Amino acid sequence: MNTQLEDIRSWQVLATYCRDQPGGQGVSPSPRLVRAGVCAYFSKVMFMEYSEKDVLDDFLEIAKRYCDAKFMVTNWRHYLTPFEARVGKLPRFKSLTSQERDQFLTAIRAMKARLSVVVGGRTENVGGIINVARTVVQEGEDTALFALFHEIGHGVQTEGDIPGNVKDAIFTHKTETGTRFGELFADAFASIALSACGRSPKQIMSGAEGALADHGSDADHPDWPTRKENIYNCLGA
Ligand SMILES: [Zn+2]
Repeated sequence: MNTQLEDIRSWQVLATYCRDQPGGQGVSPSPRLVRAGVCAYFSKVMFMEYSEKDVLDDFLEIAKRYCDAKFMVTNWRHYLTPFEARVGKLPRFKSLTSQERDQFLTAIRAMKARLSVVVGGRTENVGGIINVARTVVQEGEDTALFALFHEIGHGVQTEGDIPGNVKDAIFTHKTETGTRFGELFADAFASIALSACGRSPKQIMSGAEGALADHGSDADHPDWPTRKENIYNCLGA
């Protein structure tokens, strides 16, 4: 690629990253002002003078990772499509009737049409809006996609138009109930859907670890070893 163009793109990526950070709104989108604005932003938040070279050396990789993951999260509908195409072929859905599979697909498509996904806030799925936290997006594509598909999984679990047999084919558990069951269900959906979309077991597990491993175990959340084992089982089946 033309180096000058590459250079302009690098600064645009840095500017996008800065504008999404707390206090970053002041970074101008104007190409003429972007370099100065980005350097000023990093100088302000890092409490030291940042030259253009310092910024490129220290933050370009981080900004690229953030922007690539943000692009995936923003274009999430595209990443769900291969899963829809594979619902009829996955072994775990084989015992379903074709009517159940059709109901599932209709519900997934309706969900796709109505859900909004927003980068920012805390990661959750409330009232038809999924938020994916900036800090999660900053971890990169695998973590951001797992977190997003986990939240879609919460929507699948509570969706009244999806038959119970479909939900049982995604995840069942002998003892866990309530929100702990919901967390494992959402992990199971994320693992199955991402795997059907061509993400490798390694990408899925590292994404799950990035998204979940820091969460302690509590009344609502199973511990990481339990969740990890569940994800392994889902990827194996
Ligand atoms: Zn959850």
